[in-house]
Amino acid sequence: MRLALFNDHRPGVVLGDELIDVSSIVHPLPAEAGGAWAVWLAAGSGTAALERALLSDALPRHPLDSVRLCAPLPRPGKIIAAPVNYLDHKIEMSEQKTIAEYGVFLKANSSVIGPGDAIELPYSDKRIDQEGELGIVIGTGGRTIPVGDALDHVAGYLGLLDISVRSTEDRSTRKSFDTFTPMGPWIVTADEAGDADDLQLDCWVAGEHRQSVSTAEMIFGVAELVAYASSVMTLHPGDVIASGTPAGVGPLADGDEVRLTIERLGTLVVSVTGQGAIPYGDRPIPSTASIATSTS
Ligand code: MN
Repeated sequence: MRLALFNDHRPGVVLGDELIDVSSIVHPLPAEAGGAWAVWLAAGSGTAALERALLSDALPRHPLDSVRLCAPLPRPGKIIAAPVNYLDHKIEMSEQKTIAEYGVFLKANSSVIGPGDAIELPYSDKRIDQEGELGIVIGTGGRTIPVGDALDHVAGYLGLLDISVRSTEDRSTRKSFDTFTPMGPWIVTADEAGDADDLQLDCWVAGEHRQSVSTAEMIFGVAELVAYASSVMTLHPGDVIASGTPAGVGPLADGDEVRLTIERLGTLVVSVTGQGAIPYGDRPIPSTASIATSTS
């Protein structure tokens, strides 16, 4: 089942070329409150009742191309991310370590945007890259989840872009700017996604085919990511895990279109704008000199 939010964050289920408005069954919630699906996941509702309701003719149906899709989880509780989880990306970045040594990091949940939205480049003179990734949506939460049970905690999957400034700050800074986590176009429930450890992932920027990989190449697969993350922090329903990017990351420029397609999960398309970008040197931090003199 494909769980979407559309127009003013109304919940809908996508079936073929149609979107079925399920806001009479799944209570709509504003984006600031996490959106309808986050609460639905937390309630452990499952898809059975929803599937029954879809058989009814009473629910409003819209052609998919007539609605405006939004991020299906506009404000996840946590966005947990894998730093180096493909060997080819380790090589291209000249990394000495992988997720096994780095662990996971957090992205701000205020960085989420949805289909058709724009990535806003913060700096005019720093490289800012696309990273196409499989996003894992937690259903049932938990702590210290064994690998063998981990897939039972996954509600579904989505396409996710982990946008990243190449600068010296910690990952959580470089990857947490507003608009830096496009997600969508919808959540595909785990039963429909099938084996998420073997999905073809492709990413294009301005028509250039930059990334092409099977998620089978991940160093930590889906179950290992869930188990590892839960060994550090309690996972809650609606949390999202960004599973890391393969080789082929590269700079974004004003006017680019970024397209991420993951097999069985759909295609996420967002734009890029450089409007409002400032020189890196103009970012609002105290100068080294003022730090030195203020600690006398
Ligand atoms: Mn990443």
